[in-house]
Amino acid sequence: MPNWLSIYYDEPIEIVGGKGNRVVDASGKSYLDFFAGILTNMIGYDVPEVREAVERQLATGVVHTSTVYLLRGQIELAEKIAKLSGIKDAKVFFTNSGTEANETALLLATYARKTDQVLAMRQSYHGRSFGTVGVTSNRTWKNNSLSPLNVHFLHGADRHLAQFKGLSDADYIKACVDDLRHVLATAVGGDVAALIAEPIQGVGGFTMAPDGLFAAYKEVLDAEGILFISDEVQTGWGRTGSAFFGIQNHGVTPDMMTFAKGLGNGFAIGGVVARGDLMDNLHAVGLATFGGNPISTAAANATLDYVLDHDLQANAAKTGALIIDGLREAAKRLPIVGAIRGKGLMFAVELVDPATGGPSTALTARFMEETKKAGLLAGKGGLYGNVLRMAPPLTLTEAEAAEGLAIIVNVLEVINAEVVSS
Ligand code: PMP
Repeated sequence: MPNWLSIYYDEPIEIVGGKGNRVVDASGKSYLDFFAGILTNMIGYDVPEVREAVERQLATGVVHTSTVYLLRGQIELAEKIAKLSGIKDAKVFFTNSGTEANETALLLATYARKTDQVLAMRQSYHGRSFGTVGVTSNRTWKNNSLSPLNVHFLHGADRHLAQFKGLSDADYIKACVDDLRHVLATAVGGDVAALIAEPIQGVGGFTMAPDGLFAAYKEVLDAEGILFISDEVQTGWGRTGSAFFGIQNHGVTPDMMTFAKGLGNGFAIGGVVARGDLMDNLHAVGLATFGGNPISTAAANATLDYVLDHDLQANAAKTGALIIDGLREAAKRLPIVGAIRGKGLMFAVELVDPATGGPSTALTARFMEETKKAGLLAGKGGLYGNVLRMAPPLTLTEAEAAEGLAIIVNVLEVINAEVVSS
């Protein structure tokens, strides 16, 4: 296996079991899972509804044939997602991952617009394939920039540049829109296929564009016929609490959305939901041999039904607010905390060196090891690697939210005391 494979912790954890919102490692230690396999286990572990749906499919003897045959579960899932998307005449194509979903969206967009020029956001992450690395700007996650696409990166969540200091949201949005117009004016032939953006940047450290920015971008793009692709791989299915898909928080209906991660509650499934005219546009026939296979769609149908039947979007809003409010309160007395960000069950703590105010990856590493000891799994990320990102299953209970919050705050307090006294 390659040395660029990312494995967390000084002594990596081998997870061998899971139930509810907890997992167990090979030594028998239990952890409250605040990262959910990087948001894959959207409704927790060993969920009877998902297990039984998969077992029913296994019992038919058909794990998979191919997508050249009719797959009832795939059609049912496509119909549900198309309806939930809010996109006009929506059609769905299934893949096995978020990377493939974004590749497909970029293919649809560049084909429809007959140009290889696309717009993406700074600090973005959209996958690790040749095309998606091109629209990824987070340097930690891209090995080269030899993309087949001609990419222009826009400002969004990163407001730290000197020219943006002190600007109100409205003035910042105006500056960003001016920049977008300038980028379009300088683009070869003036032709751009699409903007691809994450409503909340996942790998980027849960950074968020100010309210109104995406709507302002969309207005300019619409006037030019440029398409908007919302990458909902992390923000979909009610996770942000306030909307079912992240981009809906911004009052924007995109032309396409891409999804993956949580939909199969651990089973591999991703896809694109797009305007029907865009989806039907390609002239060559296509299939993804395993995309939307019977096992994954059985898991995905059961997972999506569970999210809707139990109104987990409301649960994400409630339990997320409990944690985010608690973190904000604690941060007031913790100089190592530079910022708390979050929406629903997607929240982040940015760690800084109090002496300089600059990012501290050493503190991130300390936090990871201490929370591991205390029995909580968290994630890390951000441009400088100093952001703790957490996204528990949407099934998190209020008691578990309080338990996780207490562990996080306690660990932050211990590290803060060490730093302040040193
Ligand atoms: N888009 C976003 C926003 C992601 O967070 C990820 C995965 N971290 C991807 C795309 C790629 O998904 P996958 O790893 O399933 O290919």
